[in-house]
Amino acid sequence: MHRFALLMSAVFLAACSTGELRLVPAEDWRGLKPDEAASAASFREVSRKIGQEARAQCKRSDRTESCDFGIFVDLDPAAPANAFQTLDDQKRPAIIFTRSMIESTRNTDELAFVMGHEAAHHVLNHIARQSKNASIGAAKFGEAERIRGKGDAAVERAQKLGAKVGVQAYVQDFELEADQLGTIITFNAGYNPLVGAKYFDRIPDPGDSFLGTHPPNAERVQIVLETSRKLGLSP
Ligand SMILES: [Zn+2]
Repeated sequence: MHRFALLMSAVFLAACSTGELRLVPAEDWRGLKPDEAASAASFREVSRKIGQEARAQCKRSDRTESCDFGIFVDLDPAAPANAFQTLDDQKRPAIIFTRSMIESTRNTDELAFVMGHEAAHHVLNHIARQSKNASIGAAKFGEAERIRGKGDAAVERAQKLGAKVGVQAYVQDFELEADQLGTIITFNAGYNPLVGAKYFDRIPDPGDSFLGTHPPNAERVQIVLETSRKLGLSP
């Protein structure tokens, strides 16, 4: 499980440990329990503002097929705190928050920052770029095995490993890119990314493990600070 940010392949409403994802559009989210009503109202407001700014950034950058953002809540009560971006079958971007993710944010700035980060992954076309990196890695590793005279099974194993290595090579750069643009989206939507990034203080630090999908939290905070300074914000 990747907390906060999970780049999925271009499969929508696909496999999930508990079966089909059941989603509610952000504008219709009212919470399922009385104590969720307040955070649901915040979520609707943040979704509207971040959605608007994400569309504007997306159209300006013109790197993806669709800028028609959908923002949803995953109804699964057992789903851990997570937010991720994916594409539907028409390549439209979808940002999905689990209920526990919404509950785990402390204010609208944090909610906006997490949403801005996920929106940035789409504006920067990360899913397509990641899948291209996987293909290149698979082709290189597979070809190397073939040249060594290995059979189909060994070539296929090498391709699978190559795909992973190809993704791994850029995954942390993508996270930092998304933090940078996410900071801008958060700010332009009327929220404070410096307050929003406090969310990092509460999530486990992946440190600098070689196979980590996320950069160390300190590196991410640094990007937010630098970008905020350029926007004229100071801590
Ligand atoms: Zn991310």
